[in-house]
This record gives sequence, C-alpha cells and structure tokens, in this order.
Amino acid sequence: MKLNFDNQYAKLGDKFAAKMKARPLPNPGMVSINPQGAELIGLLEDDLSGKIALEFFSGAEMVPGAEPVAMVYSGHQFGGYSPQLGDGRGLLLGQVRNEDNILWDIHLKGAGQTPFCRGADGRAVLRSSIREYLASEALHHLNIPTSRALCLIGSDEPVMRERLETAAGLIRLSESHVRFGTFEYFFYTRQHDELKRLADYVLEIHYPAFLDDASPYDRMLMEIAGRTAEMIAHWQAFGFAHGVMNTDNMSILGQTFDYGPYGFMEAFNPGYICNHSDDMGRYAFDQQPNIGLWNCLALAHAMEPLVMPGSIEHMRGHYQARFFECYDNLMNRKLGLGEPKEGDRELMNRLLSLMKDHNSDYTIFFRQLSDGATEYGDGFTGWFNDYHSRLEQEKITPEQRRKNMRAVNPKYILRNYLAQTAIEKAEQGEFDEVDLLMKILQKPFDDQPEFDVYATEPPEWGRHLEISCSS
Ligand code: AMP
Ligand code: MG
Repeated sequence: MKLNFDNQYAKLGDKFAAKMKARPLPNPGMVSINPQGAELIGLLEDDLSGKIALEFFSGAEMVPGAEPVAMVYSGHQFGGYSPQLGDGRGLLLGQVRNEDNILWDIHLKGAGQTPFCRGADGRAVLRSSIREYLASEALHHLNIPTSRALCLIGSDEPVMRERLETAAGLIRLSESHVRFGTFEYFFYTRQHDELKRLADYVLEIHYPAFLDDASPYDRMLMEIAGRTAEMIAHWQAFGFAHGVMNTDNMSILGQTFDYGPYGFMEAFNPGYICNHSDDMGRYAFDQQPNIGLWNCLALAHAMEPLVMPGSIEHMRGHYQARFFECYDNLMNRKLGLGEPKEGDRELMNRLLSLMKDHNSDYTIFFRQLSDGATEYGDGFTGWFNDYHSRLEQEKITPEQRRKNMRAVNPKYILRNYLAQTAIEKAEQGEFDEVDLLMKILQKPFDDQPEFDVYATEPPEWGRHLEISCSS
C-alpha cells in the first residue's frame, strides 16, 4: 500500500494539533471498503483488503510517512460557545497528494482518547460509523458537496452508549478538516497570529486563486459563505436534514461534514427534526438556511481581525444571494422547468404545502412527477392545472424533460430504516447489506429495477426511528 504523504497541517505545529498515536481497535476486521474512496487517494481496492491497510486504519501500525495528529478547535454548539472541543476521538492520520495534485486528509474517527476527549471514551460505535459511511457517499452521488468515505473497520471492543454497542473506526476522506470552529478557537483564545497562520494555510491550500487579491481574507470569507449557502440549498432541495449544525461541524470548504443524527425527509414536513436530542428544533429542516447564515456570521466574527470593516454585512447579502440562486435553480429543475420565471417560487411553495397536508413522500413524489404522473389524489388537481400551463412555456420535448427531471429527482435515498436494517445485520456480523446499500446509493438516479423495494416508503416501524446525538 503506497501512499504519497504530504502532511501540511502537521507542519503548523503544536498550537494547531497534538501529535499522537491512536489506541488500536482490538480484534479489527474490515467491514466495508469503498473502491471509489480508494481511487481518490491513488489506491486499489486490493490495497485495502490486505494486512497492512487493516493495521494502519485500525490504528495499530503506522505506514511510512503518516504523522497522526488530533486537531484543536472549539465552536458554537446549539447556540452556546464551547471553548474547547477538538478531535476527541478522531485523528488526522496524514495528508496524501494524489495524481491530480489534490491533497486528501485521511481521518480516523474512533481512534481512542486524545487530549481533547473531555473524559469521554474516544470511540465511535459501529452503528453511527455505518451511518456516516453510507450517508457521505449517498450525498456525493446526489451531487451534494460532502466529505467522502474510504473504509469501515469493526472491532469487538464493547462501548457503552444508550445500550452496549461495539467500537468501530471510520476512515473519512476530505480535502480539509478545518472547521468554522478552528477559526473560533484561535479568535476566542486571542491567538491572533495563529489565526492568521490558519487563514494563510486555508488560503494557500484551498483558495489559492484569492492569494493575489487585494483583500484575500475577505474574498475567502465570502466564498466560504457562498459555498455554505449552496450546500444548504442542496440539502433543502433533496430533503436532507443534517441534525447538528454546530460551527465545529461546518467545513471551511462548504461541504457536508460530520454526520450524526441526520435524516432524509420522507413524508414532507418543513418542521422535520431528525435529531431526537434537539428539543427546541434549532436544527429543524426549515431552519437550516438561517442557521447556515448564523454559522457564517460566527465565522466572520472570528475572522474580524483579518477582514475589513463592512465585510460581515456584505457577507450576509452574498450568502442570501447564493442560497436563493442555487435553491431556485434546483427546485425549478425538480419541476422540469428551465430558467426561473416570476411565479415559479410560488408554484413550488404551493406544491410543498400540498405535500405537507397530504404527507407525501418527498422523494417518491418528485420521482413520479418526473415520470409524468399527472394525478396525485384529491387536492392536487388545481396545482397540476397550473403546473401544466407553466410547462407549456418550456420549449423541450416531454422525453427530454423526463430525462432532465430524473437527473435531479433521485429514486434512491438513504432512508433511516434502510440504514437501520444494514446496521442490525452488521451488528450480527453480516456486512453484505452495507455493501449492497452503498452500491445502490452510488447510483441514486438510475432505475436499478432489481432494487425497487429500496425505493418504497418506509414500513411502519421505520417511520419513527429516534436517532439521537449519541454516537
Ligand atoms: P460530534 O458530536 O461528533 O460532532 O462531537 C462533538 C465533540 O465531542 C468533538 O470535539 C468530538 O471529538 C467530541 N466527542 C464526541 N464523542 C466523543 C467520544 N466518544 N469520545 C471523545 N470525544 C468525543
Ligand atoms: Mg463534530
């Protein structure tokens, strides 16, 4: 297994991260390998099925060039500031440069206690590791910006959560593990030289095009906000709720990051709360766009020593503009409409309101609409009449429209009950369902008729699964 390490973050020094070794997962076993993840870092699936990979990714043995560190950060959790978070159970094993010159962070989630674990056990359980493994790839294939997954390792180490579970290690790939909360940490500890070093690091590696700009930090802040807005526009369009939009879970690349009690909306309900621990509904589905802005403002505040006065207000407008441009465009595409026209947003809002009243399954509805469904039960008739009048203004053939719509209205999403079924089998030592789900979700827009049952509404038991923060 040959990895081309280039550990840029570790070079920032011990104010940014603690060098340390993982506590190896006992009796590790490979649960699942994602060949697409392997390809991103220049490996083959076979490289990952060997002993060296298992030892490295389970934290037992290092490979040459790896330099594991626990990154420090803080962040706003549910609106309140937590002064010291950091990788409490994760390690950046190293950064690998691939053939396309892209630097990928290899991160082991579940690596054992670190200086930032605050007394917790440093482990991740198999259940939540499977959920992140599957979701990150599912979102990527829905064209939603996200971290990726390389492989999943199981262990027989018992771990106590709401019940007794077993430990696991998830190997996450992302081009960056710098969070909004990383900036907040250096700002609130008044380490402004380090804050600037962090900003320079992010600029050089992720936003080099802005280096020659008159005010590179302002440009970078604006771009982070814009990308965050677009990411959330995608969540809204695909019915995805993240569940824990704390600033320590917000990537400076504007990618979906740190999956916990997320959920894909089934029966459409704008107030959907996927996180059972979110009593106040702070991170409810329809709150996400505003919370995204709130988080960007928290980042802007932490960058105040670097940016020009007025930047923060400018960013607010930029966030909103990028959000609506992306959202309107996606929602129009879901209806098979081209350029947004006056009245389109209202047409969509009327539909969403009907879907709410009728508990329509969000994904199934739009997929059937793509296939030319004209009726959806009483109550929708008036809306369909107006929709068909609007379609008459479009110049494409019904066949072309069907194709366009099917490319943005998926057939397959990661329903909680599907993940749950795979988890229960995996907890019994059968991992086939994890691999099968991964395979299906990597082609969410394809028909895959042999897997029709994976595209149906959830069974009764699967409708009200309570997914909490514990992971
Ligand atoms: P999360 O809810 O996974 O985003 O984690 C929030 C913070 O708690 C981060 O600093 C994590 O590293 C830390 N954390 C979560 N679970 C554990 C655990 N089992 N052991 C140590 N730290 C943890
Ligand atoms: Mg987190």
